Amino acid sequence: MQLRDKVAYVTGAASGIGKAIALRYAREGAKIAIADLNIDAAEAAAAEIRHAGGQAIGVAVDVTDEVQVDVSVAATVQAFGTVDILVSNAGIQIVHPVEDFTYAEWKKLLAIHLDGAFLTTRACIKQMKKAGNGGSIIYMGSVHSKEASVLKAPYVTAKHGLIGLAKTVAKEGGPHGIRANVICPGFVRTPLVDKQIPEQAQALGLSEADVIKKVMLKETVDGEFTTVADVAEVALLFAGFQSNALTGQSLIVSHGWNMQ
Ligand code: NAD
Repeated sequence: MQLRDKVAYVTGAASGIGKAIALRYAREGAKIAIADLNIDAAEAAAAEIRHAGGQAIGVAVDVTDEVQVDVSVAATVQAFGTVDILVSNAGIQIVHPVEDFTYAEWKKLLAIHLDGAFLTTRACIKQMKKAGNGGSIIYMGSVHSKEASVLKAPYVTAKHGLIGLAKTVAKEGGPHGIRANVICPGFVRTPLVDKQIPEQAQALGLSEADVIKKVMLKETVDGEFTTVADVAEVALLFAGFQSNALTGQSLIVSHGWNMQ
């Protein structure tokens, strides 16, 4: 077991990619805080882990709320003693041409992705430094951390921003054995993507099948979606790595979309 007795605080872990990471970490022996806006689904995911013999709690959090983030990280420490791994994963998508975004939509998207990453980092890194056992901070970026697509101005902006945050945290955390990295998935079939297929079809004047084939998977080597299991394996690599040799990096997992 690669993460035996490690404690992981995973945001957005009630659904999709975050949930798959939480379940994967639990199978490797980690104790998990499922931190999500949707507390019922968070409790259900935590119960799923416990039924499989693992340890997990559901904690309610809006990652854009300073107090809720601090309280939910404190609840995790109270339950499990510390936090060794942060996965800052909670996210949403809103698609429009740039001129059609309301200021409120722009700010909401940046707040969830960037303010959420900052607030959870601040709360967890304090605890990691206090405990003195190092740590791993993982941000959920995207291929959109590296390149742009139409209709996604705030998302692309936020996902690029996470790379800057990760590099800074990697430098500040290095002397304490705290690493920071970014995972950059291609398209993964989760509720976040299922919602945008009809929206993009309407905005681009394409069928839904063509949005998948000609927009989402066009640049992949094999026309395949990335899976939540693929992303969870990369999250395990970053969480379980044993030294500062792997820090400040961003790794694309996308069936070859955007090769570097
Ligand atoms: P999802 O919709 O399945 O899950 C997102 C989770 O985040 C939900 O459980 C939701 O309740 C939670 N959440 C939303 N706002 C929150 C808030 N303010 N506070 C706390 N929790 C909140 O989406 P997903 O596809 O699993 O996305 C997870 C992450 O992966 C996001 O950051 C997304 O940008 C990123 N990502 C997704 C894909 C993809 O194709 N699905 C690709 C690249 C990156």
